[in-house]
Amino acid sequence: MNYREFDFICKHCGWQGKGSELSLGEFSEIHCIQDFDCPSCYEHIGYAQAPLIEDIKREERLKYLRENPPPPRVFTKYPRKLKKKMKK
Ligand SMILES: [Zn+2]
Repeated sequence: MNYREFDFICKHCGWQGKGSELSLGEFSEIHCIQDFDCPSCYEHIGYAQAPLIEDIKREERLKYLRENPPPPRVFTKYPRKLKKKMKK
């Protein structure tokens, strides 16, 4: 879901529209935050934050684990009963 498809309402002038109609405000490169301004009265209406690289990496790791689940835990020691059997 992209911000462009979201509905926005300006609290200042009552403008309503899709995110794609918003005018772009300031963009913070450090935080990857894009501010959006109302196209009618130019009041700040909201912002969107691009996913950070760390978040993408985490998502990829989680996806990998879901698709390639780690093997079940293996006992480092055999249960006692099994040990006895093995001695025979
Ligand atoms: Zn407005």
